[in-house]
Amino acid sequence: MIKWDEVGARLDGALEGRKGIVLSTHVNPDGDGLGSEIGLYHHLKARGHQVSMINNDPVPAKYRFMSGASEILVYDGARCRDLILGAGLFFVLDNSSPERLGRLLADVQASKAYRICIDHHTIVDPFWNLNCVDVDACASGQLVYEAIRALGGKITPGMAEAIYVAFVTDTGHFRFSKTTARVHRIIAELMETGGINPPKIYRALFEGVSPGLNRLIAFALADAHYEYGGRFAWARLTQKQLEECDGFEEDTSDLVNMLLSVEGVVASALIKEFPSGKTKVSLRSLGEVNINRLAVRLGGGGHVNASGAVMTAPLEEGVRRVVDGMKEVLEPA
Ligand code: 5GP
Ligand code: MN
Repeated sequence: MIKWDEVGARLDGALEGRKGIVLSTHVNPDGDGLGSEIGLYHHLKARGHQVSMINNDPVPAKYRFMSGASEILVYDGARCRDLILGAGLFFVLDNSSPERLGRLLADVQASKAYRICIDHHTIVDPFWNLNCVDVDACASGQLVYEAIRALGGKITPGMAEAIYVAFVTDTGHFRFSKTTARVHRIIAELMETGGINPPKIYRALFEGVSPGLNRLIAFALADAHYEYGGRFAWARLTQKQLEECDGFEEDTSDLVNMLLSVEGVVASALIKEFPSGKTKVSLRSLGEVNINRLAVRLGGGGHVNASGAVMTAPLEEGVRRVVDGMKEVLEPA
């Protein structure tokens, strides 16, 4: 639990007298990373700061409707390096792992900027000078909302829309376990700004999918395997299938949830073969079943019920590591 009056004062102190602010999130940004980043951007701009948003990867098309999304710079070396090296403050949203800054990392390390992490993942890294981390928050967007309020800020329609996208993304549309009464009260307040059109946002985020994504879903569901007495479901997508469906950039989080939705299943994994020879696993689980420790052992991270890792291993070796690793999760000694 974050004590927001204390943290608010520390944030206020950090903002005081520091010129040039850079915001970023994790590689392959999602709705929580981007919504948190854009929401905080609008607030800092409203306070009169000079702010830039710099990410390792472009904004996926479905998030580009957010006002402010077009201001995000994709790291390009030269210009972005100058902004990071010249910054007095660096904020990272929805990411505690320095290596998940991607190509920005070396410049952030070299910069004298004070580093602030606003996140709800399980890792607290000494890399950050100030950690505003709460694993009970349903989304990093919830922490951005609390931070803006603690700083005495007013929530504008643009901030409301971005923060709403963060909530909707990370709560699976208000159904995951961290969706509290507080979450719904915040949502009501965001809606009262007039900045949120739920059907428009739903269509942008969850519909309007490509035929390729539906085909990928078909491939993966046809491959579904059930192990550990039907408690673990996993499926893989090969590089060839991903190529055929133009699917490397597709958000497949619904797919791993579909595997989890099967009766009796308490943990699921989607395992993808990347052209680099690496293998990416997305892990999901229900309730007390903690798949985060497995993700950390595989070199990744995340949350108790939703984690991921990128393994330096070919696909079948990656599958073996995941399936074997589930033994300790589901059948601890
Ligand atoms: P997804 O499976 O949707 O990619 O990610 C689920 C969760 O696991 C997210 O919260 C994300 O931050 C985390 N995650 C996914 N991949 C990685 C990874 O390679 N490293 C770390 N540290 N976390 C990851
Ligand atoms: Mn998040």
